[in-house]
Amino acid sequence: MSGKVFLVGAGPGDYKLITMKGLECIKDADVIVYDRLASPKLLTYKRNECELIYVGKESSNHTKTQDEINEIICEKALEGKIVTRLKGGDPYVFGRGGEEGQYLIDRGVDVEVIPGITSAIGGLAYAGIPITHRDYASSFHVITGHLKEENQELNWEVLAKLKGTLVFLMGMSELKNISANLIGNGMKANTPVAVINWATTERQKVAVGTLDDIYDITLREGLSSPSLIAVGDVVKMRGSLNFFENKLLNGKKVLVTRARAQSSTLSDKIYNLGGTPIEFPTIKIEDLSEEKSITDEIMKVKEYNYIIFTSQNGVKLFFNRMIDLGLDMRQLANATIVAIGNVTAQEIKKYNLIADIVPKKYIAEGIYEELENRLSSDDKILIPRAKESRDFLVDELNKICFVKELKVYQTVLGEGIQSQDNIKKMIMNKEIDYITFTSSSTVKNLVKMIGDPEILKNSHLISIGPITSKTMMELGLEVYREAEDYDIDGIIKVLVDCKG
Ligand code: SAH
Repeated sequence: MSGKVFLVGAGPGDYKLITMKGLECIKDADVIVYDRLASPKLLTYKRNECELIYVGKESSNHTKTQDEINEIICEKALEGKIVTRLKGGDPYVFGRGGEEGQYLIDRGVDVEVIPGITSAIGGLAYAGIPITHRDYASSFHVITGHLKEENQELNWEVLAKLKGTLVFLMGMSELKNISANLIGNGMKANTPVAVINWATTERQKVAVGTLDDIYDITLREGLSSPSLIAVGDVVKMRGSLNFFENKLLNGKKVLVTRARAQSSTLSDKIYNLGGTPIEFPTIKIEDLSEEKSITDEIMKVKEYNYIIFTSQNGVKLFFNRMIDLGLDMRQLANATIVAIGNVTAQEIKKYNLIADIVPKKYIAEGIYEELENRLSSDDKILIPRAKESRDFLVDELNKICFVKELKVYQTVLGEGIQSQDNIKKMIMNKEIDYITFTSSSTVKNLVKMIGDPEILKNSHLISIGPITSKTMMELGLEVYREAEDYDIDGIIKVLVDCKG
């Protein structure tokens, strides 16, 4: 049975600009055939077994010829596979999608096309340029600048007379000729032009000038391919509509040291604010909740009248184990539930329980202050938490009543180990603007992984709260800023304030 090929537009660069259908195709594919302009981040959504084939083209240095690409896609589909052909922007805008589709249909392969946001429109938008505007342009024209390869001559006389916005793709090697041809055919030399390099990505750079000087400006600023060349009065709107480059964390690289499974919230918030999160998981969570001593205690959970949760991990592992053991939330009907902070409380809510107490200060001391006057010697407290937690809470509460600590997980050295040298180099070359620490173990492990705290001395180190800061100082590291609220939003607030 023949498979199927989806010709999918990946959007202009920002990976979130793909369509829902496009993402579905990535998630379902047996094979993904992709090129240079499709965001690599999109590939992380593939199935584990999915085969990846890179057929990227640098404009003059083709990795694979178009014929070879057609053959690869066709062959895989005829083997019965679902093939997602992922292309930058829209597959039919200078993407040779039409040729690929035709080739496949001629050979009896089922083809479906998922349009994407073309860089010609989306790339301009991210540079603050609306491609049409009632005051400036009532049409637009998307033109290939790669004249030699296309082996066609453009009608410059007509192009120069158009009143709409002109957008040249693949035009950087011809920029000088494009300007000269437009001026030579009567377009005003002071017509505004923008060159947008790596539009919609963290590398976006924009040069603005006129037909007369844009070539020199672009050379001076070192912009090359891939770039869009936008010609017309709409370029003037950039002054007011430049939302992307004005994002609060634009251009900032932030190291995220949390465990991979947990890093997504922080990373996503950084990304949505225009920053670049660099994930380097220094810790990994190891589930210990299966151990007999722990399951025995969980079976007796009903005997406790206080349960204290000090992390999201603790909540998840404890409740999942409870459910595995055949217990449900009725077991906790008489218990007071304490959460160390909002995020932990939110996690508890997922299990249909509402935390009764969330202290003002999101640390163990905060919990102790809330509880010390409520507790009596008859109370029984259960604390499911990390093996390496500080002694403070258990020691202090033990002075009042019975306390049982359940070490439901431990944090071990993370999975970032493969990219260790790379990260070390980036830190030493000051390519990273901020390093975030969300727990003491992220501090200790980062130091362990890069080998020497000295390497971190010149970096801006951001701490989630006083306990993490203390660990940093013990290792001789300077805390650049500490979050006021000891959670992820607290860290985000610090990052934004630093930028401002
Ligand atoms: N199908 C794509 C275009 C492919 S042709 C689309 O719809 O966007 C390749 C050219 O597109 C590049 O040479 C460049 O001119 C432009 N391009 C694509 N993505 C770009 C980006 N993120 N930034 C700037 N130019 C881009």
